Amino acid sequence: MSQVRTVSESVPHIYHYINGQKVERDTGRSLEVHNPASGEVTASVALADAATTREAIQAAKDALPAWQAVTPLNRARVMFRYKALIEKHFEEIAQLITREHGKVIEDARGELTRGLEIVEFACGAPHLLKGEHSLNVGGSVDSHSMMQPVGVCAGITPFNFPAMVPMWMFPVALVCGNTFVLKPSEKDPSVPMYLAELMKEAGAPDGVLNVVNGDKESVDTLLTDPDVSAISFVGSTPIAEYIYSTGCAHGKRVQALGGAKNHMAIMPDADLDGAVEALLGAAYGSAGERCMAISVAVAVGDEVADKLVEKLKPRVENLKIGDGLAEKGLEMGPLVTREHMDKVRSYMDLGEQEGATAVVDGRKREFQGKNGYFLGGTLFDHVKPDMRIYKEEIFGPVLCVVRVPDYESAVKLINEHEFGNGTAIFTRDGDAARQFTTDIQVGMVGVNVPIPVPMAFHSFGGWKRSLFGPLHMHGPDGIRFYTKMKTVTARWPKGVRSGSAFTMPTME
Ligand code: NAD
Repeated sequence: MSQVRTVSESVPHIYHYINGQKVERDTGRSLEVHNPASGEVTASVALADAATTREAIQAAKDALPAWQAVTPLNRARVMFRYKALIEKHFEEIAQLITREHGKVIEDARGELTRGLEIVEFACGAPHLLKGEHSLNVGGSVDSHSMMQPVGVCAGITPFNFPAMVPMWMFPVALVCGNTFVLKPSEKDPSVPMYLAELMKEAGAPDGVLNVVNGDKESVDTLLTDPDVSAISFVGSTPIAEYIYSTGCAHGKRVQALGGAKNHMAIMPDADLDGAVEALLGAAYGSAGERCMAISVAVAVGDEVADKLVEKLKPRVENLKIGDGLAEKGLEMGPLVTREHMDKVRSYMDLGEQEGATAVVDGRKREFQGKNGYFLGGTLFDHVKPDMRIYKEEIFGPVLCVVRVPDYESAVKLINEHEFGNGTAIFTRDGDAARQFTTDIQVGMVGVNVPIPVPMAFHSFGGWKRSLFGPLHMHGPDGIRFYTKMKTVTARWPKGVRSGSAFTMPTME
């Protein structure tokens, strides 16, 4: 986490959004927010202490009874208005994403569109919350299962999708009748604050959606406070593991999504040009700062590998990189912070030391006149599974090519990696593709699709150390996560039995 610094008075200060209003709480701790394309400080963000976080939890707790009593249809109507408001302010929000994250504007628009799709999914709440009903489970006996809210829910989100990842969580939680405290990333806090303000405008009562900005101190308060019932987390694996174990130890239901190292297998029969185009976007889009980015190309056979590298090289050397707000037609922006850029650069150094072949060395790319956190795209060939650049998540514009002799070795390689978020196979062979989708130990799989992010009405989540907890985000799993099921078995007067029964109840 970045160091706490004193911030100039000349930039806006971002505090918290609690109980339907912006609240200023000065704890003496704040961080700078930067425009990664220029390196300029654009704002400061306050870091909440336990008391401020507690204030947000209390606001959510107080708002709960009235919000639970709102019918699902009327909660959905809030979401319909929210959708319209986001559409109205779409461009403004997209620009804010680019200004604090650095991704190019088209990519920011894509992020917001994917977030908006979750709001659209949440608009279906009355249907999604219908529960289950069985008539005549026994003589004159009916059963129904209802889905009730879990209570105050909290979301802790990463820097790389400041709009979409919070929107994976709170629209679904809210329509299920829960109230919410969001603790967004301290690196790009403006968009989550804006999203909360719009929710009030859409008609959500005060306290239904709150935002506390902060770091470990506020996260630990959310994890341990008895009034928080459920925690959704998205971020790196060590923190996901910590969130999962601490939240569970405090009796909460937890879904904690972690890091990734996503492989794309390129079979000898694949459309190679198509695979190259797909790889470029999937590896270098958003400067590789996507949990579904492809960071490993698994070339099946040396012939495929040689051709792939030959075709990728000039494209990676000439990636259009720049300030996403100032320039048009860009393919990639800067890294989010100087610290992150330095970390990614250190992996580029490491790859060289470990003996990988640097086909394109992003460290050498010059960005004259630019003070932002820019790095060129890097392409490593002859990467081996025991190298750290293969094993660890770099989260930057670095693509590793691993050469394997056959399909079986590709599957074995992918299955033995500690992460299992996303993967893809590029092939024209239906048998191989079908077998791959069955054999592979990864949560989201693409067939000739490089970034297989499920739509809002399916659920998003990885396997292995990319997800702690059984339930994925949004879609059917999102509804299950944010509701408790209760099953009622009822017999009406005609069939009420007399006398006590001491045996296990059956419907006979
Ligand atoms: P991060 O783990 O550093 O931070 C995520 C959140 O946790 C932030 O809100 C941060 O304030 C908080 N946090 C950080 N350190 C903490 C600590 N010690 N105790 C308590 N809370 C702490 O992640 P990041 O750098 O913001 O985001 C990048 C990571 O997120 C990558 O690993 C990426 O793969 C992952 N990610 C995963 C998915 C997914 O769906 N699996 C999606 C997006 C991002």
